[in-house]
Amino acid sequence: MTVRVAIAGSTGSIGTQTIEVIRAENDRAPGSYAVTALSAGSSVDLVLAQIDELRPDVVAIADEDARREVAARTTGVTIVADSADVIDVADVIVNGVVGFAGLAVTVGTLRAGKRLALANKESLIAAGPVVQPLRTTPGAELVPVDSEHCALHQCLRSSSAPDREVARLLLTASGGPFRGRTEDDLAAVTVESALAHPTWAMGPKITVDSSTLMNKGLEVIEAHELYGTPYEDIDVVVHPQSVVHSMVEFSDGSTIAQLSMPTMHLPIGYALGYPDRIATPFGRIDWTTLGSLDFEPPDRSTFRCLDLAYAAGRIGGTAPAWLSAANEVAVEGFLSGKVRWNAIADVCVEVLERHDGAIPSDVDDVIEADQIARRIAERIVEQQ
Ligand code: MG
Repeated sequence: MTVRVAIAGSTGSIGTQTIEVIRAENDRAPGSYAVTALSAGSSVDLVLAQIDELRPDVVAIADEDARREVAARTTGVTIVADSADVIDVADVIVNGVVGFAGLAVTVGTLRAGKRLALANKESLIAAGPVVQPLRTTPGAELVPVDSEHCALHQCLRSSSAPDREVARLLLTASGGPFRGRTEDDLAAVTVESALAHPTWAMGPKITVDSSTLMNKGLEVIEAHELYGTPYEDIDVVVHPQSVVHSMVEFSDGSTIAQLSMPTMHLPIGYALGYPDRIATPFGRIDWTTLGSLDFEPPDRSTFRCLDLAYAAGRIGGTAPAWLSAANEVAVEGFLSGKVRWNAIADVCVEVLERHDGAIPSDVDDVIEADQIARRIAERIVEQQ
């Protein structure tokens, strides 16, 4: 049976790697997957090439000019504006949209009772209280496309009673390009150095988040939302080789880890194939050259964003939405030269200090919280 896949954010890092996984699987077993829908922002040439190769039924383009151009240069494809319109024609929806903009696809997919392969962690983090109840929609299934959470998902399958047997989740972190540096060393880091990740090839936003450890902090909230584990039972371990992708410690002291070479193809393929495994061995380990695996505690005073995320997660309500929005604004400011790398955490601290204690009851509340936090963050960025 052919699995119909929609790829939201098809021209980004996750989107293009999803297409590589599908290409490889279809080469082995033709007709395994059909890409029936794509959504993209404004990358006209790349989306036209994807349409040419994959022949989707529906393509959503957010940017109006880009949408007009794609419509004029294609035939036999329905071109729409709303990324949530990709959901109807697929069985599995890969959400590879960057940032808070991915919320509509997350909510729409779960509401439609379909499988969500979620690479857009921001939607789960910012809208946890709204997304959680949707996970009980009949047919709805959330499989994370984040290497750590995919690892946890695999480790948790070894327990018949995770509620009783899980002692703690151990999220691994590469430590990013600035591991081992002090706050003083990091006063004048450049965009180029923040984007030079030692082990992972990812988009710019998440790569900067990885350099500040905000990515790991947001992943702690993501793990809490996905698996219901209390914050005091989620730990972070720095592991520079990025081969152990995360671990679960069980009540008897046993720890189960998932290992593979760092490539997003594996978690993408896991989410596409679940509960089966795909046949293409992405990330095979060569044990003759692997060498050593190192572990160390994170430097929480230099990389303040990690504990900020724990704090926002514990506050709950819209606090994670505020933190995620403040961070997006600060990272955009850093990438455009308005904010120093060191000040990304300062912007987030200042925004969180003004959190209004709101608890969201629907998507509109989350959108409003996001907008309030963004406005505050933008003002702080302008004062930098
Ligand atoms: Mg990750």
